[in-house]
Amino acid sequence: MWEIEIDKSKCTGCEECVGSCPAGVLKLVDGKSEAVDPDECLGCETCMGVCEAEAIAVSEI
Ligand code: SF4
Ligand code: SF4
Repeated sequence: MWEIEIDKSKCTGCEECVGSCPAGVLKLVDGKSEAVDPDECLGCETCMGVCEAEAIAVSEI
């Protein structure tokens, strides 16, 4: 299992993470990224890599 933590105070709503996630985990909700389907997360950390705001942290739980 993977936990995706998004710091909404840092998120600019650029959607880079949404488009890069191969598992469709992330969506924009009210202009900010949210992990709407965290059970599908593969732990690939692609979203972390593309987020220039450094708003995402992925960790194994
Ligand atoms: S890439 Fe970062 S700043 Fe852009 S929508 Fe995702 S969490 Fe927000
Ligand atoms: S770690 Fe990979 S699978 Fe999980 S939310 Fe980020 S991009 Fe998607």
